[in-house]
Amino acid sequence: MTNEIKNFIIESCKLLNDAAKFCFIVRSREFQEEAIVNLKIIKEKNTGLKEKMILLEDEDSANALLSHENMIEALINELKMWVALKDNKPNDAWDFLVNAQNSARIAMSVHNILDYSHTYFNKLLSIEKFIFSNKFFFSLAYSSDAIICSICEKNYDECEHEENKAYMGKICLTKAKKKEIKSISLITHGNPKNKKNRVLFIK
Ligand SMILES: [Zn+2]
Repeated sequence: MTNEIKNFIIESCKLLNDAAKFCFIVRSREFQEEAIVNLKIIKEKNTGLKEKMILLEDEDSANALLSHENMIEALINELKMWVALKDNKPNDAWDFLVNAQNSARIAMSVHNILDYSHTYFNKLLSIEKFIFSNKFFFSLAYSSDAIICSICEKNYDECEHEENKAYMGKICLTKAKKKEIKSISLITHGNPKNKKNRVLFIK
């Protein structure tokens, strides 16, 4: 990894730490909203550098910046979650929390540059446990023709990429090409693949 990238990440981690000080319900909304704006500026710089590293084919730097980009996104979503809770919008807050968890998971899985990413991810799981209660989910089963790789757009079974791994600044994800819902089941214990599939009310 180049010194330019290392220094950028070290310096912006200090700014992320400043923003993290507002990740509490008791902190003022004004500061939380200001922190979101500042994080978006850092994220834009990060994305620009990542694109540059992709062009230079510096895979290690590109993947480190992908990790950092997702950590910034996670923090933005956590701050939005606290603001939504103040606005009495618990369903929006839940979606922001799930976004934050998904981004933090990517941040810790694509590169080891951020040694605190596991701790942060566990903090988000604790928020889920203590702030949101009585969660039921539903799980959707699909019939699908093929699972497609997001990197090469080929059939995932036939390509060489591995799901949730980073390749030159991009994460490999899979998606069904053509899908129809086959069945819906209720999950009362454990986690579904998509935590946004939450039961909002039961008649
Ligand atoms: Zn592929």
